[in-house]
Amino acid sequence: MGSTGSIGRSSLDVLSRMRDQYQVVALAGGSRWKELAEQTIIWGPELVAITDERVSDDMSEAVRGHTRVLSGQSSLFDLVDQCDFDVVIVGVVGTAALPATIRAVERGKRVALANKESLVVAGSIIAPLAKESGAEVIPIDSEHSAVFQAMHAGRECDVRRVILTASGGPFRTWSADRMANARLDDALNHPTWDMGPKISIDSATMMNKALEIVEARWLFSLSHEQIEVVIHPESIVHSLVEFFDGSMVAQLGTPDMRTPIQYALTYPARLRCPSAALDLAAIREMHFEPPDVERFPALRLGHEVAARGGTAGAVFNGANEAAVGKFRQGAMAFGDIAKTVQRVLERHEFVADPSLADLMQADRWGRDEVIRCMTV
Ligand code: NAD
Ligand code: MG
Repeated sequence: MGSTGSIGRSSLDVLSRMRDQYQVVALAGGSRWKELAEQTIIWGPELVAITDERVSDDMSEAVRGHTRVLSGQSSLFDLVDQCDFDVVIVGVVGTAALPATIRAVERGKRVALANKESLVVAGSIIAPLAKESGAEVIPIDSEHSAVFQAMHAGRECDVRRVILTASGGPFRTWSADRMANARLDDALNHPTWDMGPKISIDSATMMNKALEIVEARWLFSLSHEQIEVVIHPESIVHSLVEFFDGSMVAQLGTPDMRTPIQYALTYPARLRCPSAALDLAAIREMHFEPPDVERFPALRLGHEVAARGGTAGAVFNGANEAAVGKFRQGAMAFGDIAKTVQRVLERHEFVADPSLADLMQADRWGRDEVIRCMTV
């Protein structure tokens, strides 16, 4: 799901080297029908879903005779519900794939999850559901893939804390004043990772790390106090787990999403991967520094949301998606993204033990509240 995006294209690249072991039975994308049609003709899936109805006729026409096309927003769910598959890669951005992801978990499948928004919004539903159904939720997000790997060095009860590394994004060295009116192009210009636009902007505000704190909380059943962030500009140490004996176990690698994508597919096996090998002697130096929560207030919000649980994650994520959308349209200053999300969180009437319907409503409320904050 999300095969035309950054994660999706990297996933197909990984799979192109494993065609004797894996078969692509379905593909899904949002609106880029030409790319999706090209992928469909190359990969020959049984089903393809395109959510944007405005282009579904073009898509059907382009792949006529090759495959069956589903369209509309519910097509992601239908695809996961109807297809016979072993693993689904969730590379859709935002919450569009949430019902489909929950369905895959319900069906007890392996869910290779790049999409962090789904856990931020509905971790309280997905985590217990996975336990019940036996689904394996394996993170693709590089930090969480690192933690997942490092966790194998001890028992869950031996974990003291998890340290998520953060590159610091394109504005790591910028002053708050300079950042306040940063341009879209600057925000999209990530120093170490080549990613889609939304996550690139999230990395610039460090909202991405805030979302990842919440993601880690649900993936590894941690309390928010057990999750720390350290800035590591080289993005080579992808994250660490500290055990009670003081040992820290880390996973290192070149910044290339094909490594965690492949691992989520082949776990527990480790196969050859096209990403470049790491040469520590050539790198010579790696740097670590504490995050600056004054310049990047999003980090504090991440801890707050992970601590609160309930509807906080849904409001937080919805508000952030809406604020990022406004920034991309040129309607909100860069410096107002985190401030607006914080204001929305403060106004939210918190529900402690929400149903999925409550979460969806909180998500909508968070988005609408961003617009109301802007017009006041
Ligand atoms: P992207 O913008 O490059 O791709 C997004 C994909 O989602 C596209 O295929 C698009 O067609 C699809 N999509 C968008 N809206 C949709 C909708 N309403 N219905 C169905 N499909 C829709 O984004 P990306 O960078 O590949 O990121 C995808 C997810 O993976 C995000 O949740 C992101 O946080 C996470 N992630 C990405 C990276 C990375 O390196 N790109 C790393 C870690 C985590
Ligand atoms: Mg990440």
